[in-house]
Amino acid sequence: MPPTPSPVTRGSCLCGGVRYEIHGPLRPVTVCHCSQCRKTSGHVVAATEAPTEAIQLLQATTLTWFKSSDTAERGFCSRCGGNLFWRETARTVRVTSVMAGTLDGPTGLSIDRHIFVADKLDYYDILDGCPQAAAWF
Ligand SMILES: [Zn+2]
Ligand SMILES: [Zn+2]
Repeated sequence: MPPTPSPVTRGSCLCGGVRYEIHGPLRPVTVCHCSQCRKTSGHVVAATEAPTEAIQLLQATTLTWFKSSDTAERGFCSRCGGNLFWRETARTVRVTSVMAGTLDGPTGLSIDRHIFVADKLDYYDILDGCPQAAAWF
């Protein structure tokens, strides 16, 4: 039998200045309630993850990286402001978080955890029954 082709998932920012495709399976979606995700997204970040080498940038004209902490940086579109990527700068196993809302649907994914819930603001409740961690799992 021929090998099953690995799935290809595509996504972009709102204006299309950043377009990507991911080859292979994606991690379930983690929702992060930390203050850095809040301040960059306007609410929470919901992100899947893939090996960095599996993510192919089809267009990156407006992709800008912002060093958001001592250990991580965030990729966003400098034209429409869309948040697309998060990655640790010093991680030996290179993976990149991809903001799930930038995927072109359907994704076949679902949320499986909430992290940094100790940092969440008080205007909403987490009601999906998924596991919650005060910081990392
Ligand atoms: Zn854009
Ligand atoms: Zn966060």
